Amino acid sequence: MLVVGVPIALSYPWLPYGTPPASLCFEGIGVASCVIMLVGIRRRRPERPLMWCLLLAGMALSVTGDAVYDYLENVAHVDPYPGWADLFYLPSYPLSIAGLGMMILRRTGGRDRVGMIDALILSTALALPAWSFWVRPISLGDHAGLADQLVSLAYPVLDVLLITLTVRSATTPGALGLRPNRLLILAQIARLLPDVTYSIAQLAGVEISYLDSGWLLTYLLTAAAALHPRMADVGKPATSDEVTLTMPRLTLLTVASLLAPAILAAQGVFQHGRVDWSAVAVGSAVLFLLVVARMKLLLGQMHRLARQMESLAHNDGLTGVPNRRAWDDRLNRELAKARRGGHSLVVGMIDLDFFKKFNDEYGHPAGDLLLKEAAAAWTGQLRDEDLLARYGGEEFGIVLAGRGGDEATAIVERLRAVCPRGQTFSAGLAVFDGAETADELVSRADRALYRAKATGRDRTVRDDHQTLTAGGGDQVSMAV
Ligand code: GH3
Ligand code: MG
Ligand code: MG
Repeated sequence: MLVVGVPIALSYPWLPYGTPPASLCFEGIGVASCVIMLVGIRRRRPERPLMWCLLLAGMALSVTGDAVYDYLENVAHVDPYPGWADLFYLPSYPLSIAGLGMMILRRTGGRDRVGMIDALILSTALALPAWSFWVRPISLGDHAGLADQLVSLAYPVLDVLLITLTVRSATTPGALGLRPNRLLILAQIARLLPDVTYSIAQLAGVEISYLDSGWLLTYLLTAAAALHPRMADVGKPATSDEVTLTMPRLTLLTVASLLAPAILAAQGVFQHGRVDWSAVAVGSAVLFLLVVARMKLLLGQMHRLARQMESLAHNDGLTGVPNRRAWDDRLNRELAKARRGGHSLVVGMIDLDFFKKFNDEYGHPAGDLLLKEAAAAWTGQLRDEDLLARYGGEEFGIVLAGRGGDEATAIVERLRAVCPRGQTFSAGLAVFDGAETADELVSRADRALYRAKATGRDRTVRDDHQTLTAGGGDQVSMAV
């Protein structure tokens, strides 16, 4: 459709203006685009058709405005601007703005605050030159009457609103990866460029042809977006919602923030010192506040990232319990405390029995799930002050500060009772002797674990420097 439509739209300025073939081409493209859009909406059946219907209604009004404009200028031979055509052109903007706004809201769910601030920074920065060099000169210019002045002012104001929404639409997460969305953004650019040029050309009192091609492209691109197979995805929530500050985005925001001082300088140099200080002051203040808000969000992002890194560094990815690194840190700290305060402390090593067989029988993913379930069930049996860590593979370590040997054995038996799917484990406990190092204490727990394995598994062996006790049903005492 674009392959046929775009060359026709681009060659339109070469048709003799005001003749029936030119009118037929212009209005023909407009009507055809409306029909194609209607077909697209009916065929693709988007979940929320209202946003597309608003765009279609906006386009239909604009196409009607074209026909009225054409009639006034070429048939009735009256000056068409401002006039009846504007009654159709003007309301077409709020409809397009409402349609685009709904799409943005649906895609972001109102969550993408970073994207919203970026779009506000860009549009505030754009609004400033728009006001200084476009809206203000119009408001100060000669006008036939109030209606003429209002119509002349309405177009730039609506255009600035549309620029804001287009920028916002382009900065929503994943927006540029979706073809129909890209087409809609291009459609708005194709409308805004001639709109702005037309307005400025009017101010300067010059006639510019070729602008009509832009408006025709807007119709065609919007229709192509509605006909695209993925058009229904435009109104679906975006999957990624974390916006990163990429280099192009940072450059754009920097340029936008520098526009206010640039305008100040331009007015000082080119308008012989006649500076519109109130607009530049308000614009700069809004921009500064937005940049500060952006910094606050960036700091929030950094803190979240730091917390994630901290969690990744100290927690086991599979089970979520502290990892070996966290275990080493905590054990050394708890031992120092116990040494200073003379508290009791017990270290335990827990190793699942015949876990290789479990993996062979049920598969590795089922083994992973069991490890996760076991860690969760054991955590539920421990106090916050107790430490359960994944020591490695299917081996876990526990540090029970302030607990005696018997209490620690009872706790491990509680863990045994909640081990999921009938899985058994062997445990070795070592009661801190008040002087030894972390390595010596862990080695003793390891040796007790080895003994528990060697004497039949599914039991707890405790090394408290006097006796070893075996659990798991058969209470056995052994001398060390
Ligand atoms: P034992 O009673 O002597 O401890 O027998 P075992 O099979 O448990 O001991 P071994 O050390 O021979 O094997 C440990 C197995 O644990 C090997 C490996 O397949 C399994 N394993 C280690 N880490 C993971 C893991 O992250 N996920 C899964 N699914 N399996 C693991
Ligand atoms: Mg094992
Ligand atoms: Mg093992």
